[in-house]
Amino acid sequence: MYDVLIIGGGPGGYACALRAAQLGLSVALVEKRGGAQASLGGTCLHVGCIPSKALLDSSERFWAARHDAAAHGIVVEPRLDLAAMMRRKQEVVETLARGLDGLMRKHRIAVLAGRGEVLAAGRVRVTASDGRASEHAARHIVLATGSEPISLPVLPCDGERIVTSDQAIAFREVPPRLLVIGGGAIGLELGSVWARLGSAVTVLEATEEVCPFLDADVAAALRQALTRQGLQIHCRVRVSGGERRGEAVLVRGEGPEGPRQWEAERVLVAVGRRPHLDGIGPVALTERGRVRVDEQLRTSVPGIWAIGDVVEGPMLAHKAEEEGIAVAERIAGRRPLVDHDLIPSVVYTEPEAASVGRGEARCRAEGRAVRVGRFPFAANGRARAAGQSEGFVKVIAEAESDRLLGVAIVGPRAADLIGIAAAHLAYGGSSEDIARTCLPHPTASEALREAALAALGRALHA
Ligand code: FAD
Ligand code: NAD
Repeated sequence: MYDVLIIGGGPGGYACALRAAQLGLSVALVEKRGGAQASLGGTCLHVGCIPSKALLDSSERFWAARHDAAAHGIVVEPRLDLAAMMRRKQEVVETLARGLDGLMRKHRIAVLAGRGEVLAAGRVRVTASDGRASEHAARHIVLATGSEPISLPVLPCDGERIVTSDQAIAFREVPPRLLVIGGGAIGLELGSVWARLGSAVTVLEATEEVCPFLDADVAAALRQALTRQGLQIHCRVRVSGGERRGEAVLVRGEGPEGPRQWEAERVLVAVGRRPHLDGIGPVALTERGRVRVDEQLRTSVPGIWAIGDVVEGPMLAHKAEEEGIAVAERIAGRRPLVDHDLIPSVVYTEPEAASVGRGEARCRAEGRAVRVGRFPFAANGRARAAGQSEGFVKVIAEAESDRLLGVAIVGPRAADLIGIAAAHLAYGGSSEDIARTCLPHPTASEALREAALAALGRALHA
């Protein structure tokens, strides 16, 4: 009888396991990836955050060597070795996976290789890759089964020409033309990777603007920056079908100007992910088909909890981790809560785009009187020195109380800067609090402080 048995070894599941073990609970973690030897890390480590960021970092260096080096007085003639770039990515993944195995051993967490299936509250069957099944009892079960890519019925994936991110992080050659359906995080990140490596990339987005989860001004600035880099981005496009044309795929759709067709050697379908519900047992679902949980992450069945991509909220690794820790602490009798408004979002393009809290449009839709401070990176010394002066920081505060409501950034080091903003937001800080934080010079972080000063009507450098 374990205290906690977790199904799914992604960032939600393994973080839950580690925290539960730290709190003195006996823990089992079930993972089906990897066959007889469970491979932990989930989507994030194997086909998500880490491999995509390895490719973003590598391709950014290639792009910079080609396009930026000369301006810095460096003369190079870079040549792409895609196989080596992919090998490096895989080594990063494998090193981190080995690290997770070590952590499990250190915390005496029982890792059970196979497919987990909830039979009833307290009972789980694990079926190994060789078909052998075993049954396990636990006081608490945590569902952390994650998500999988959504495919389009009008354009089914074939895994070769029409693919999901699982294949687009592992192309063996640079496609001459890449058509990306969906201008969200995956579409823009992987679109950027292949554009930097030489593909002609076209992105088709169904809504008004790319990345609907970002502040609208930041999303528009990001689209404009990527367009300047050569990506063709079309919004308000509805894809209606397509077919194979020799080595290419012909895709049909309807844009603002009427019917259109696009042809490309590879098509990446990146229109979102859906929860992975295999083995979850008799728990209730929400209208959107995710596992229904209350604010403590309890499902409809007592003793069964659920976390991460399989429940509502942003599908992000740090959100899954936060919920995993919260559930472990709840089981151990503590009372943590996860506030989705404090979870930052980042798109790791160049420039990066990031936001935390509420966007300006949402504040206005909620009828809040706000003060908005903006500061351009063009007036930031470090951004100028680095030759990365595109973009701005936007600080949104409640007009009367000055309480911080949100921060949105597009520009250099946005992913790091948003962490500072998230900390101020978490402590219930104000734009005055950011304005009074002494930040190092010369860094991009000074733009955050200046935007807070702008919200107070006293920016120094603009
Ligand atoms: P997962 O990571 O999906 O893990 C679930 C695990 O459960 C899997 O290992 C699966 O094999 C296992 N499993 C499922 N069912 C069973 C079963 N019945 N029995 C046993 N095991 C089972 N997020 C970010 O925050 N930052 C990023 O930069 C980022 N980049 C991404 C890039 C890409 C290309 C993709 C696809 C995703 C990215 N994400 C990113 C999202 C992130 O990967 C997910 O939000 C995160 O992995 C969710 O964690 P999880 O633990 O809920 O589920
Ligand atoms: P997403 O929700 O970020 O974006 C999907 C996009 O596709 C949206 O802009 C949506 O409007 C559009 N879309 C939907 N249907 C469409 C259609 N038929 N035609 C054209 N466009 C359509 O989803 P994603 O990019 O697939 O990523 C999946 C999940 O992984 C997301 O929840 C995301 O948070 C996560 N992820 C995060 C990061 C990151 O944090 N940097 C990176 C990659 C993925």
